[in-house]
Amino acid sequence: MRWLVRPDAVALVEPLAGTGRVVAFDKRGGAAGVAGIVRTARALRAVGFDAAIAVQRSLRTALVLAAAGIPRRVGFAGAPGAPFYHRRVVASGEHARDRLLGLVSGLDLPRPEPAPDPRLVVDPRAAAEVAALLAAAGIGPGHRLLVVAPGSAWATKRWPAARFGRLATMLSREFDAVAVVGSRADAALAGEALRALAETGSGAPVAVDLCGRTDVAGLVASIARARLVVANDSAPGHVAGALGIPVVSLFGPTVPSFGFAPIGPRTAVVERALDCRPCARHGGDACPIRTHACMESIEVTQVASSARSLLAVEDAASHAAAGFAGGGAA
Ligand code: SF4
Repeated sequence: MRWLVRPDAVALVEPLAGTGRVVAFDKRGGAAGVAGIVRTARALRAVGFDAAIAVQRSLRTALVLAAAGIPRRVGFAGAPGAPFYHRRVVASGEHARDRLLGLVSGLDLPRPEPAPDPRLVVDPRAAAEVAALLAAAGIGPGHRLLVVAPGSAWATKRWPAARFGRLATMLSREFDAVAVVGSRADAALAGEALRALAETGSGAPVAVDLCGRTDVAGLVASIARARLVVANDSAPGHVAGALGIPVVSLFGPTVPSFGFAPIGPRTAVVERALDCRPCARHGGDACPIRTHACMESIEVTQVASSARSLLAVEDAASHAAAGFAGGGAA
């Protein structure tokens, strides 16, 4: 089996799929346009696939798979690329994970039951690089690390960045260190968060800004070091969920019922009940009613309380496991 993914997802998928089993499809770069589709299709044809599952609804992906001559092509009914699939599966299930798993029925395979939770594997090279970055900031393996991710591709999905810093201050008894993660584009947000944290003075946890200093594999490795992650409705929250790291996700213009919230027992969502929610499928650049109340009204105390609840569950689970390993109490 091979994976056709965006170039920035190669580092995410390769540790799971295996080296040489992931093909980058840069549809906005080298594989753009008709020439890009033909080139990619030719490369896939050379491998000689028996079947393909299109997990994206993209027309371009469907065209590539068709042009590659793959004999069995499965995708979602109603997708723009659906006319190019042999089997069209009606999406069913509340979470995106379940809808994606349903695609295997298009290959007459049984849907896995119970549905497996999303999973990611940490790349050892990235783990070593992140360990070095943290060590250079005075953060060692024994430090209880809070990872915060103030970024999002969409402005309306961002909780005010300074509040991530104030949150870290509020949780300074629970954590020894804070890492801000994100891309280079999130540098200004990281700066705001860290300035707010620095206002705490001498009692503040040690902090490091990792934004733009790692690749995607490094983001995964950074999150794998966390005791807890706090993120907007964005990639770092999903990474934490897939690694089994406790995560508090902050939702504003989108809602978990769309099916894209991190799943698992170590996840929590903080959101406000507002009549205007949801206002967008993916978020937007500006609040249509100009209040941005969905994010502005989420208080630091609420998020801290959610974080502490998750930590309490974790602590209880570790104590129970320690008791079980030790033979348990009479
Ligand atoms: S309309 Fe409501 S949900 Fe949408 S961005 Fe504005 S406050 Fe948030």
